[in-house]
Amino acid sequence: MSRTPIIAGNWKMHLTKRKASALAREIASAQGVRSNRRCYVFPTYVHLDHVRRNLRGSDVKLGAQNCWHKKEGAYTGEISPYMLRDMGVDVVLLGHSERRHVLGESDALIADKVKLALKAKLEVMLCVGEKIEEREAGLTFEVLARQMKALKMVKPGLADRVTIAYEPVWAIGTGAVATPEIAQEAHAEVRRQIAANLGPDVAAKMQILYGGSVTGSNAAELLSQPDVDGALVGGASLTIDKFAPILAAVQGA
Ligand code: PEP
Repeated sequence: MSRTPIIAGNWKMHLTKRKASALAREIASAQGVRSNRRCYVFPTYVHLDHVRRNLRGSDVKLGAQNCWHKKEGAYTGEISPYMLRDMGVDVVLLGHSERRHVLGESDALIADKVKLALKAKLEVMLCVGEKIEEREAGLTFEVLARQMKALKMVKPGLADRVTIAYEPVWAIGTGAVATPEIAQEAHAEVRRQIAANLGPDVAAKMQILYGGSVTGSNAAELLSQPDVDGALVGGASLTIDKFAPILAAVQGA
């Protein structure tokens, strides 16, 4: 089963409007329009429109880093997935470890966000991953199974708008990248969980990205694993010098 690799940049709460726009132009020109890999960028909300304009002419998809689980109403400071769609956003990142562990989002809240984002016609990139103490206690697969239950919200026919990012919390922003073997083992389990929730045909097609201290030096080896279909990149997505080698690490790119 061939799955088109995806390289995604999560810019978190970084960059100015000018720098985000310039980086978008650089990434748009590095990506262009191609069929052998996809590229997504996730700027902060307030830069979305500037980035959207600077991605024109490329096939880079525009992503938001989060959304709320209600369509509209008295939710001061929150953003509806319908608002994101209305301003040209293609995809939303949900369940990032910083949302789960710094902002305290629960599995139930994340599942509700998945449901509404799909209803709003966005793509969803659902992040899952274990903390170091969970890995050390032998609980990694249990944690993944619990977090992957959000897929129960995906109605038949909508699964092609969902991707998963496996991001072990201990590898995010630490330089402690997972070995290719650890990544492959977890990705195979994530694929089993996709099959358990949505069936084997969906599991065979769904892209699973690895995230956590990906750089130009380790990307090719990670991407060569059979169940690693791309990378979600934080720190190394903030300059074209660091991001372009990761884009280029996709086989045949
Ligand atoms: C992330 O935040 O999604 C991430 C993977 O960060 P980093 O690449 O910096 O580890």
